Amino acid sequence: MKVTLEHLTKIFPGRGRKSREQVVAVSDLTFEIPDGKLIGLLGPSGCGKSTALNLLCGLLKPTDGRIFFGEQDVTSLSPEKREVGMVFQNYALYPHLTVLQNILFPLQNLKGDKKLTKSEMQKKALDAAKLVQIENLLDRKPGELSGGQQQRVAIARALVKTPRILLMDEPLSNLDARLRLQTREEIRRIQKETKITTVFVTHDQEEAMSISDSIVVMKDGVVQQIGRPQEVYDDPCNLFVARFLGNPPVNLFRGSVRNEKLYIGEEPVMDMKGAEDQDVSVGIRPEGFILKEQGVLTCSLSGVEVMGRDVSVVASHACCLEQTIRAIVGSDTKIDLSNPVIRFDLKPEKVLVFNAQTEARLRVKDAASV
Ligand code: ADP
Ligand code: MG
Repeated sequence: MKVTLEHLTKIFPGRGRKSREQVVAVSDLTFEIPDGKLIGLLGPSGCGKSTALNLLCGLLKPTDGRIFFGEQDVTSLSPEKREVGMVFQNYALYPHLTVLQNILFPLQNLKGDKKLTKSEMQKKALDAAKLVQIENLLDRKPGELSGGQQQRVAIARALVKTPRILLMDEPLSNLDARLRLQTREEIRRIQKETKITTVFVTHDQEEAMSISDSIVVMKDGVVQQIGRPQEVYDDPCNLFVARFLGNPPVNLFRGSVRNEKLYIGEEPVMDMKGAEDQDVSVGIRPEGFILKEQGVLTCSLSGVEVMGRDVSVVASHACCLEQTIRAIVGSDTKIDLSNPVIRFDLKPEKVLVFNAQTEARLRVKDAASV
């Protein structure tokens, strides 16, 4: 089921005398979720992700804008009639019911021509349990399950009615690191098997990048960029998006464009054909550095961190906006730790330049190493 958001806006009124100020939780959300895809809605806490989900499922009414499931305008439809499955961070299972009863629950209130017989319900519940691989736990109570197992039950319960779309709000946040990884692979597998259009909300960039067909990056209720994860990482539209994606994060420097060259401090590091003179912020991805004796960027070497597969060179520079620079190089690279100075060449495609005031990306047609 294709989902379309058109100028979707939600404004919460200010409460009480002191906080009259209204909150624009989401503003003018406009995008399309293609049928059968998994979209990652990504952004820091408070940027409007949950509000957007609650608008999609009908728990909130928008202040403005419209929502379509396929060609149907569902904006004023009640949550029950939208046929969406919801999964939350805190599982929200009924503690006094068994796993099977929890999964059966949404089927028991179906009315009219949707009403099912007992055996039909049993079959659907069992199918959903099998899909999330908990068919051996059906007689347990939620309290007797691990966090990961509880979340599987919640997913089975969301899927049992075969929803038109599946909405997941930070479903992995309560799980420990290993389970988070495993469960996210599970969610991906289930989504691919069922082909249910899914919106997956998270504040964790790595999680969103790894699981999504496309990501929607939000800030302060406003969409910043939409695209395939790799595209958005490689080609961020502004400084916020560049900083939000990537681990270790992008290294940031104060810089300037002068005479069509990019400077960090007094060193010209890259050609910027066609760019006007201006102050800029320069983002260099950790994998964008090449160790070279006569390299264009001169830094002070602090040390190296060995991470097995590769090595992080830790350095500093007077124009760097953080205390340290992290450059990732291959584990076979020879680094002379007795030398306090280290120089790098830069991979032009890994150097992202932003106007210092607007923070918008400066696109240069033929950026090239000097
Ligand atoms: P996220 O899920 O990305 O952390 P939310 O969608 O929960 O963000 O919140 C977005 C903004 O809207 C926040 O500033 C939050 O304080 C505000 N907000 C959310 N729900 C309400 C509400 N019911 N009343 C007033 N403000 C709200
Ligand atoms: Mg939230």
